[in-house]
Amino acid sequence: MSHQESHDVIVIGAGAAGLAAATVLHAAGRDVIVLEARDRVGGRLLSVPTAHPERALDLGATWFWDGEERVQTLAAGSGVATFDQHLAGDTMLQETTGTRRLTGNLIDAPSRRFAAGAQSLATALAAGLPTGALRLGAPVTAVRSGGQGGLDVLTPAGTLHTEHVILAVPPALALERIDFHNAFPADLVRLAQFTPVWMGAVVKVVAHYPTAFWREDGLAGAAFSRTGPLQEIHDMSGPGGEPAALFGFAHARTVRPGFEQAVTAQLARLFGPAAGCPAALHVQDWSGERWTAPSTVQRLADYSLFGHPLYQRPALDGSLHWASTETATDHAGHIEGALASGERAARAVLAAPADVSDTAQDVIAPSG
Ligand SMILES: Cc1cc2nc3c(=O)[nH]c(=O)nc-3n(C[C@H](O)[C@H](O)[C@H](O)COP(=O)(O)OP(=O)(O)OC[C@H]3O[C@@H](n4cnc5c(N)ncnc54)[C@H](O)[C@@H]3O)c2cc1C
Repeated sequence: MSHQESHDVIVIGAGAAGLAAATVLHAAGRDVIVLEARDRVGGRLLSVPTAHPERALDLGATWFWDGEERVQTLAAGSGVATFDQHLAGDTMLQETTGTRRLTGNLIDAPSRRFAAGAQSLATALAAGLPTGALRLGAPVTAVRSGGQGGLDVLTPAGTLHTEHVILAVPPALALERIDFHNAFPADLVRLAQFTPVWMGAVVKVVAHYPTAFWREDGLAGAAFSRTGPLQEIHDMSGPGGEPAALFGFAHARTVRPGFEQAVTAQLARLFGPAAGCPAALHVQDWSGERWTAPSTVQRLADYSLFGHPLYQRPALDGSLHWASTETATDHAGHIEGALASGERAARAVLAAPADVSDTAQDVIAPSG
């Protein structure tokens, strides 16, 4: 016989969705812990520091938009400074026949950004959780029904017991990395396996420069290309142009040896020779991230599955709740959708009938 650690709720994943869920549950007085596979919080919110102490460059999410109330409220409430995306200037177009300058910014919609990077939202949420509620480097490998009801959650460090799991991981990834012991019905398995991972097949490239020189030429830093490797490019400079940066997206399947040289050559062709010599070039291939992308990521394309009704109901006899931006009914794919999905899952836990067993106390696990 051994004592098994037990919690009211276990959240799997410390991205925006999982951290939002844990925040709501903690505020409601529930004993909740978050198990995160990586050694950092944020998931698809990933910001790399710059020489400026309060500025970072985003390798994951960058923008938020009007009407995304949860993001705005969270940023304002946690002191995360925001600023307007730079829009002014002309757009560059790259075709097989050459490049052209088009008047005005034709591709960037008005949006806002996070001065210290989007990951600062996740850091702020994590800072509000009680000590010990967040476990990094804790990948969940299996979830199975517990001996006395509830669920057992397995990690390499041991097994934990809980009444409720919030699965704040893209569904297709969860089905590939976590063994649910065939407990889901076939329609749910099919749905989860075919739900795309938003931006999971994308390579994001950030080119960091000493100055935003393109602005002096009247360019917005915005470009679209029919040749690649980057398909679209945007200004990613911080407030007042510091730090200065451009970023672009490529589809992971187009990445070939020599990708970085092809990117800098493309940037030089579009924005002039200075663009070909960035001080730093960050290449983030999300399709190769074990804790973001399932092996099928490049084949998943049915975005109509986002926010599917099956994700709005708990599974496994009411004990497993879906979160992640892919499960959101509004703003799916965005940070806003991730936050909304986490809040919805947390509310479902709070609304669930109380279990007869006292889950706040340690339970005795079956031996073995
Ligand atoms: C390149 C890129 C650009 C984007 N741009 C924007 C943008 O401009 N604006 C916008 O609103 N959105 C954007 N997005 C989308 C945005 O980043 C996501 O909507 C949001 O971050 C998703 O949060 P999430 O919590 O649902 O999932 P995730 O951030 O993926 O979090 C899931 C977490 O679960 C963890 N995990 C996975 N498996 C396990 C396991 N077995 N055990 C424990 N933990 C596990 C992961 O490590 C991760 O921390 C972008 C995304 C990318 C990749």
